[in-house]
Order: sequence, then C-alpha cells, then structure tokens
Amino acid sequence: MGYRKGTDMTDDKNIIDFKEVDTEGKEILDDENKDEFEKVCFLCRRPESKTGPMITLPQNIHICTDCMQKSFDTMNSGTINYGDMFQNMPNISMIDLSSMSNKISERNRVKKKKQKQEEKKQTAFSMKDVPPPHKIKAQLDEYVIGQEHAKKVISVGVYNHYKRVLSAENGNDGVEISKSNMLMIGPTGSGKTYLVQTLARLLDVPLAITDATSLTEAGYIGDDIESVVSKLLAAADNDVERAEHGIIFIDEIDKIAKKKNSNQRDVSGEAVQQGMLKLLEGSDVEVPVGANSKNAMVPLTTVNTNNILFICGGAFPDLTEVIKERLNKQASIGFKADLKDKYDEDKNILDKVTVEDLRKFGMVPEFLGRLPIVFTLQGLDKDMLVKILKEPKNAILKQYKKLLEMDEVKLSFDADALEAIAEKALEKDTGARALRAILEEYMLDIMYEIPKDDSIGEVVITGDYIRHTGGPRILLRGQEMLELEQKY
Ligand code: ADP
Repeated sequence: MGYRKGTDMTDDKNIIDFKEVDTEGKEILDDENKDEFEKVCFLCRRPESKTGPMITLPQNIHICTDCMQKSFDTMNSGTINYGDMFQNMPNISMIDLSSMSNKISERNRVKKKKQKQEEKKQTAFSMKDVPPPHKIKAQLDEYVIGQEHAKKVISVGVYNHYKRVLSAENGNDGVEISKSNMLMIGPTGSGKTYLVQTLARLLDVPLAITDATSLTEAGYIGDDIESVVSKLLAAADNDVERAEHGIIFIDEIDKIAKKKNSNQRDVSGEAVQQGMLKLLEGSDVEVPVGANSKNAMVPLTTVNTNNILFICGGAFPDLTEVIKERLNKQASIGFKADLKDKYDEDKNILDKVTVEDLRKFGMVPEFLGRLPIVFTLQGLDKDMLVKILKEPKNAILKQYKKLLEMDEVKLSFDADALEAIAEKALEKDTGARALRAILEEYMLDIMYEIPKDDSIGEVVITGDYIRHTGGPRILLRGQEMLELEQKY
C-alpha cells in the first residue's frame, strides 16, 4: 500500500491530491479495506511493521522516524544548501527525534489525570478546614504583635464567613446568614496587610491584594474593578472553585472616598465604590483566565463572588478630625457640657468611629452597608516596635541571626539597640515598615565585613552603634570560648 499523487480536475487549477493506494497502485476506497493495509513510509517505502510508529503529515503522508531523522541530520551536517543556512544561524539546530521519543515516553498521561482528580477532591471545602476563632487568634498571635481587638474581630468574622459558606452549600433552611465583609481602619505600617496575609496562609485559602487607587470605572484608564477577581483566580492557580472560597484584600480604600467639591465625573472615587457594590454583595463575574484584561485572545470563565470574603483596609488620615468634631459637638451640648478640646489628645480616637463618620469622610452609604464589620488597628508605639523586632515567628532579628549563623557567627542585639531602632522607626512615621529599612542600613556593613575575618565568633549590636556614637561589640572566637569557660 502507498500513496499516489493524483490530480483533481473538478477545479480549473490542478490540485495535488494524495490518494491512498494498495501495492498494485489501486486506489483504496472503502474504510473496511483501509484497515487491512499498513502505512508505508513516503520516503523509504518500508511498511509500519518494520519501521515502528510513523509520523503522519497532512494529506495522509506517513514518514518513518528514521527517514525524518535522516532529513534533519542532512540539514544539520550542511550537505544541503539550506543546512548551511541553519548551521550559521545561532540557536537553531535540528531536533534529535530519538531523544524526543524518550521524552514523550517519560510522560505518564494516566498518572497526570489521576493527580488532577485528587487535587480537585482536596479543594472541596469543609468546616474541618476552619479552626474555631480562639485557635485562629492563637495562630495569629504567633506572627502579629498587639492589635488584640483586631485579631479577635477578624478571627470571629472569618469563622462566621466560612460557616455561612457551608450553610449556603448545604442547602437553605430559610435562615440566610449575611455576608461578613470587613473594613479595617489603621495607620500605615500597623499590620493591616500583614494580618490578612497571615490569615490567608493559616487557612490555606487564596488571597488577592489590590490597591484601590489603581481601580477606575470600566472604560477609563486604570484597572477595571473586576480585575480584583481575576487576580484571585490567578492566586488560586485558575481553579474557580478554590477562588470562590478565597479572600480579596483591597488596600487604600480611603483613597476612593467621594471627592469633595468636584464638578467632574469621579471615575476613580465614588464610581469605583458604586462599581464594587455588586462584587461585595455577590454576583457572577466574567473574568479572563490567565490574563489581567479581557480581550479576544483570552478565554473567559465565570466566578461567583458570593462566597469570597472581601476585606477593605485604609489609613483614613483625616477621619480623626471628623470623629473629633462630632464628639466635641456632642460634648458641648446639654447639661453635661464638657471641655471642648477633651478629645484632642485622645490617642485611641479611631476606636470611636461610627458609620456616620465614614459617610462624612466620603464613603457611599451603600458601600458601607456591604462592609458590616468595621474595626480599627492601633498605631504602633515603641514597646510594640521592639516586640515586632524580636518576637514574631519570623521576626526580622531572627532572620538576620540565621543569616550570620551560616557564617558560624553569633549575632545578638542588646536592649538599648532595640530601643534605639524603635525610636528611629517612630521618627519615620511609617509604623513597622520602617524597621526593616533601618536594620538593613546597619546590617549592611556587618554582613560585608564579618565573612572577611574567620576569627570573629560573635557580634553584639549596641545602642551606640545605632546612634552613631560607637561601634558594635565584636568577640573573637577565643574570647567567646573564654567567656563561656568563665560562665561554667
Ligand atoms: P499596613 O497596615 O500599611 O498594611 P503592613 O501590614 O504592610 O502595614 O506592615 C508592614 C510590615 O510591618 C509587615 O510586613 C510586617 O512585617 C510588619 N508589621 C506591621 N505590623 C505588625 C504587627 N502588629 N506585628 C508584626 N509585624 C508587623
């Protein structure tokens, strides 16, 4: 059997048509007969039983792997003119089919399918995956310093959220638990993002973090509001079911407050709040798979946001003024009139926030209505900053210590140094965010110089070194041993 080049005269042009023929050159017409014949290599004319599996090209041409390899080799060795061309081109070489077939056989398709099914099973959500609030908080305590109230509220909120998800999935008995999206208010660097990140990691749910400032109403320059869901889908490795149980954190939410005294269309403020209403409440959103924006080339999938927990966070810098104004007004009316500036020095004034204050700040009432849980984080003081330096499970100091341990050098910080670092961070007014930058500055020299000298056994960072009034204390290996001997 083989193939005969034929001509088709139905058209004006002669169309080259390869027809299946038997060994005598007769055309094979019906399918039954077709199965009785073997494929024959178009080049060497050997049947498939001799050559092994063949490569099928369009027009039903079959080529055995030997002939295919020979052709590639000829091109590579340059015996044909265009072979030279390929050889002279950088990064172009012909394929070695034998290595390819090895690779193909390495792939175990059945195994892969099975794995996928198992992964799917794991994504099925159950209440066992969500620890009770006190356990969530205990785990958060290991990473997040202070912010007791915030940790408590968020633990209960998340627990209730997943209870609601399960109750909805297990059928409705008439009682519908409403969604517990949250609004988190706290100064920069007080741990808002960190809290949500830690939470998502502990619960092993996908998390997407977006900046509200990058969002605009659809059709304007900037990211569409729905892009937040697309980010979550990407964080869930395009697994829609996993994404639908995830968390979306929208930071800098105060930046989309209604612009005051503006006659122009507010495409990045109020319009974004309006656009987010449906998302927060729960709706089907069409999002591109594996891309950030919708276009004709990207497949779309539908994600339902009903079970996605939305947490919004912001510093709300001028909110304290709004709260003070309200409190001072209340205090100065009536029989129990109080001092007018009673609240000016109140450090925890943000705790007294009401929905009315937020509305005055520029948040749309419908938007606030969809964020029923409002809580605040405190600004970090010196003691908290010192604790953040050394106590969390992955504290910055622990990280530096580990780095130097690899050089067999012990790193320690005296109490004065920790206070000095915290003081410097307070001056920067960016909360705990400043700590790493400050430490990086001081540790640069240490990490540069120490590996030079093998005899150094311990480095103690002192307050003087941080305040630029002295250097770190360096103990040589012998000295360290001496000190140890004196101790015991
Ligand atoms: P923001 O409130 O501006 O979102 P972040 O959560 O981004 O602040 O905090 C910046 C960094 O500071 C975090 O990555 C974390 O390492 C550290 N940090 C902030 N607050 C705390 C805290 N309460 N406990 C432990 N680390 C914190």
